[in-house]
Amino acid sequence: MFVSFEGGDGVGKSTQVVLLARHLTAQGHEVVVTREPGGTPLGLELRQAVLHGDDLDPRTEALLYATDRAHHVASVVRPALARGASVVTDRYLDSSVAYQGTGRDLGADEVERLNLWAVDGLLPDLTVLLDLDPVVGLARLTGDPDRLESAGDEFHRRTRQAFLDRAAADPGRWVVIDAAQAPDVVAAQVQQRLAALPRA
Ligand code: C5P
Repeated sequence: MFVSFEGGDGVGKSTQVVLLARHLTAQGHEVVVTREPGGTPLGLELRQAVLHGDDLDPRTEALLYATDRAHHVASVVRPALARGASVVTDRYLDSSVAYQGTGRDLGADEVERLNLWAVDGLLPDLTVLLDLDPVVGLARLTGDPDRLESAGDEFHRRTRQAFLDRAAADPGRWVVIDAAQAPDVVAAQVQQRLAALPRA
């Protein structure tokens, strides 16, 4: 079982990743919790470069995310799935389609093709979109904003809509959940959707 969490900054992805992992572990599954960018040692270096690098043009940014993802899938995600573990990731390729494809105007189709190539076609069984007004999400964040968090309201509104459009186009893979709800309510809705998935 491969599950990804998507959505804007401050929507509560990392909390929900932990809650879902706990739920799956209690059901007796081996669970690998991971994230992009930065799910591997190389990925942590790429994360540092992409989030704090100066003057990154959009194509370089997109390629750094895709490099992180290719390595993450090859070295963490596929081996875990192959031994029967469940993988729960905080962000996956849909983040690149929304942020670099739509947010940075590189084109959603092109960025999707690049990333599908990077992961050799691997898609999650379920993608959870935690949807929230970006003004509310960004206000929840503490600490120094990174380059992307400080990108501006219009950028965040467009990426939110890109996630929603992508989810609407593939309801078999996606579930959209209102992230303004309490964390336990969100977690229950995630679990409900997961339970409805056909098992392999
Ligand atoms: O969710 P996380 O804090 O790991 O994301 C780090 C930053 O990278 C966020 O500001 C997010 O918006 C941005 N990001 C991005 N494109 C991606 C993945 C993350 O712009 N493909």
